[in-house]
Formats: sequence, structure tokens, C-alpha cells
Amino acid sequence: MEQVVINGLSGNSTIYIGESIDNLSKYIPSENVFIITDKNVEAHYGSRFPAFPVYTIEPGEGSKSFISATNVFRWLLDKGADRSSFIVGIGGGVVSDLAGFVASTYMRGISFGFVATTLLSQVDASVGGKNGVNLDGFKNIVGTFNQPQFVICDISTLGTLHRDEYCNGLAEVVKHALIYDADKFSFLEKNKSGIMAFNQTIMTFLVNRSVNIKADIVTADERETGIRRKLNLGHTWGHAVEKVTGMPHGQAVSIGMAFSAGFSLKKGYLSKVEHDRIIALLTDLGLPITTTANPMVIFETLLRDKKKEQDGIHFVLMEGIGSVKVELLKIDEIKAFANEFAQ
Ligand code: NAD
Repeated sequence: MEQVVINGLSGNSTIYIGESIDNLSKYIPSENVFIITDKNVEAHYGSRFPAFPVYTIEPGEGSKSFISATNVFRWLLDKGADRSSFIVGIGGGVVSDLAGFVASTYMRGISFGFVATTLLSQVDASVGGKNGVNLDGFKNIVGTFNQPQFVICDISTLGTLHRDEYCNGLAEVVKHALIYDADKFSFLEKNKSGIMAFNQTIMTFLVNRSVNIKADIVTADERETGIRRKLNLGHTWGHAVEKVTGMPHGQAVSIGMAFSAGFSLKKGYLSKVEHDRIIALLTDLGLPITTTANPMVIFETLLRDKKKEQDGIHFVLMEGIGSVKVELLKIDEIKAFANEFAQ
């Protein structure tokens, strides 16, 4: 088992990679614990939860809402949860975002931890202390920065994930390699068949590397005022693709990374060979690199959603594999490339 510690403003968070859900009791108090999960996770792993009250949400993004949060608050009140209670979120990013938000606001904040059961939540959502809910179509618009006491990444739970969900998480794994770690990128290229066959040793290594990268960035810039923006690689274009097409987040981020790679090639920051390696890896990992959606509709969506600064938008571009920079790009330049990218 590997351990990674994030020194956050609200306290330290320890991520245990390779720990088992069966050992959850070691990390939580012996009483006054409340579990939040979703129906799918409960069906697979509910029999292995410690014997505490469980609140089960419907799976999916629709549950990341004020209505769900309010229902959980009422349930906690009804069960007599108080300031000394402890919340455990067991599930993917929807559960951790909701459980983290509820724990951070119930009675002005109580302690919490996660068992992350999707690849996306192990390498991204549960790590870093961001939580929140959606409102009126705006994603994560209400939430807090607050670190969980612990995150358990039980790699074996990834074995029951739907293949699309697994591939969604791989997009974030590739993203971390592109931002920080050329060696990890080569490792991904060499081990793609093991990854697609869900080899647990390979996946433990990859989750560990991703968590280390995210932890380093979050520790340096927890509130996302500088370096943490690098984690938005693929997300500026990707979020707009996700909104327009309704495709899963990881797939949209993959298209966003392909967009960024193409842009970086055009600007001379990335060689053709590096660009082609990125496109090949994403494709080999079952991820899309293009969409048939109208690029101008995506572009307009991006303009509506992103904060403009000095007539430009901050974009994460690649400087070779394993290094990125945040650049303020002119709106017209993005529009022109959006048209080219679609060709
Ligand atoms: P998810 O939580 O919806 O899980 C995906 C699906 O997999 C669900 O149907 C779930 O029931 C099922 N599932 C979960 N674990 C399973 C398992 N082990 N076996 C079988 N099925 C399982 O989605 P996600 O991709 O984990 O998370 C997406 C959410 O994370 C989004 O809301 C996104 O905004 C959020 N997110 C948050 C952060 C952050 O920093 N807070 C970062 C990235 C993403």
C-alpha cells in the first residue's frame, strides 16, 4: 500500500492507494459514523460496508444537487448526527462531491473521508479537497475547498466498473502524464494492453503516480490561483464539448486534450511526432479525439462559460510531452483553430 499526504489549509489528507474497503473501519471512529453511497456501489460493495447507517442516492450527475444535499441533511438530523459525527462517502465523484459538500456544511462542517470506487475519483475527484453540487445547469457552482481526512483507493473495486467509466478515468491519467510526467506517458504507451485488460499491478502504479502528481499540484496551489490551473488541460474545450454533446466527461476531456495538442502543434510548442503519439495513445485507450458536433456551437458555448480576460481565454497548451503552460489566447485565434480542428 502507498500513502500520499496533502497538506491542505483545512488540514491534512492522506490517500491510501492499494488499501482495501474491508479495512475502512481502521480509519473511522467506532461510533457516530454515517455513510453516503449510490445504488450501484451499494449493490456491489454494500455487504462490505461497516455497520453504520447508509444513505443511498440514485447513481449519476442528477444526484449532485441541492435537493439531494437537503435530503441528506434531513436524514442526518433525523438520525441525530451532531458536530462529532463522521461522514464516509463510498463511490465515484458524484458521491464524493456530494458527501464532501454535505460534510463541509452540516453544522458548519464535520469530519469526513472517502472510499473512491471509480478510476476518475481515485485519480482526480476525491483528491484535492474540492467538493460541491450543481445548480440550474451550472456544474459545481456551489461548494467548498475542504480536505477529506482520508481517501481509500481500493484498486480492486475498479474491476466492476463499466468499461466506459474505466476509460473516462484513463483520460485523467493521460492528462497527468502530459502535464508532469514524460516517463509515465511512455509507461502508458508500453502498457496499454495491460491497462485495457485491467491489470491491477499496472493500475496500482498508475493511480499512485496520478495521485502523487495531483497532490503535488494541490499542495502548491490548493485554491487554484496559479499552478493548479494546469490541471485544466483538455478541460476548456472539453467542458464545452461535454455541454454541447452530452458525452461523458472523460471522453470530452480526451477531445479537449486532442484539441490542445493540435493547437500546441500549430503554435510550434509540440512536434508532429509528439502530437501523433498523444493522439495514438488516447485512441488506443478507447478514448475519442474528435466529435461531429458543430465546432462553432462548441466555440460559442466555451465563450459563454469561460471568464474572458483582456479579450482572451486562459488555455493550457503542451510544451512537449510532460510539460504544459497556461497561455492567454485571443478569442479570434481560438475560433480560427476550432474551425481547422474540425476539418
Ligand atoms: P460517478 O460517481 O457518477 O460514477 C460513475 C458510475 O459508476 C455511476 O453509475 C456509479 O454508480 C458507478 N460506479 C461507481 N463505482 C463503481 C464500481 N466500483 N463498480 C461499478 N460501478 C461503479 O462518476 P465519476 O466519473 O466517478 O465522477 C464524476 C463526478 O466527479 C462529476 O460530477 C465531476 O464533476 C466530479 N469531479 C470532481 C472533481 C473534484 O475535484 N471535486 C474532479 C473531477 C470530477
